[in-house]
Amino acid sequence: MMSDAGSSVLIERDSPSKPEKKKTKYDVIIIGAGPAGYTAGIYCSRARYDTLIISGILPGGQLMNTTDVENYPGFADGIMGPDLMITMRKQTERMGTAIIDDEVIDVDFRHKPFKILTASEEYECRAVIIATGASPKKLGLPGETTFGGKGVSYCATCDGPFFRNQEIVVVGGGDSAIEEGMFLTKFGSRVHMIHRRDQLRASKVMQERAMANPKIQFHWNSEITDIQGDQKVQKAILKNIKTGEITTLTAGGIFVAIGHTPNTKIFENQVDLDSQGYIVLKDHTKTNVEGVFAAGDVHDHRYRQAITAAGYGCMAAIDVDRYLTENKA
Ligand code: NAP
Repeated sequence: MMSDAGSSVLIERDSPSKPEKKKTKYDVIIIGAGPAGYTAGIYCSRARYDTLIISGILPGGQLMNTTDVENYPGFADGIMGPDLMITMRKQTERMGTAIIDDEVIDVDFRHKPFKILTASEEYECRAVIIATGASPKKLGLPGETTFGGKGVSYCATCDGPFFRNQEIVVVGGGDSAIEEGMFLTKFGSRVHMIHRRDQLRASKVMQERAMANPKIQFHWNSEITDIQGDQKVQKAILKNIKTGEITTLTAGGIFVAIGHTPNTKIFENQVDLDSQGYIVLKDHTKTNVEGVFAAGDVHDHRYRQAITAAGYGCMAAIDVDRYLTENKA
């Protein structure tokens, strides 16, 4: 049975002779384990709800692919993204939240209790917080698939060291692209930043740092039209959108940092989504389904910061508490 004041014990034994039975019923299930999911877990567990986080395939979310985080309060010298997420996970577990590193493949929010399915298990709960975040967008070039893991990457932290003393290309003009480009100058002989406009979207401070870095070269009004190579990436073909001029860049690595798509495929036909797939919130963190809440980048395409995601996680947990208090059955 689910309880208001539950424990996070995953294994229940009915009697010593029976085999171990996995716990599948919770008060609250949080789908996703980024800053929003972990913060929601901390607040739900501290409110004494029996809480499970199903983390998804990348526990920790996008910050696992980030280097220095300088804008998350509480760390005077900054902190590496993966270190921040590992610390958040430990804090969440210490509060009593159960965490399962598994992927949700389907949900049923049409009936209560809500059902959440992984490949091996069906879970039930009284309230859900969706905190599945967003994933990197792709350029859509054939070479991107051909050379995936062979020079094309979406994560400088993960793959940067493979490109020591090589020319590296980064696509995008936002904070992510600049951050990736700056990080990659630690490894590459030169970093080519390819942006489709002549003005960066990135914050001023990031722009200034990039412009001052002698290893970074900007290619304005430009897009990649082809990625070429043999076993691995060797060349990026660039087109100047204004002049039509075609240039070939020698490059060992191509890093794509052009924004994100919300991870909402499994919620289609379950909760309202906007035209880009972001969850539409009705009232603060409430979705259109009573008892189903959302937090972080899965609905927020405006702020998209770790700290705002964490804030939304807190808000969703408080909204869950109100909902469960009003719906005790
Ligand atoms: P973003 O701000 O949406 O920037 C995406 C960039 O990619 C834009 O410059 C965009 O060009 C370009 N782009 C989009 N689609 C493209 C395509 N098909 N081909 C070529 N270029 C394309 O995304 P983001 O950089 O991932 O940042 C997301 C949010 O996270 C932002 O709020 C950002 O401030 C934040 N963030 C903060 C930090 C930090 O503070 N340390 C680090 C990373 C991210 P246009 O400019 O022409 O639209």
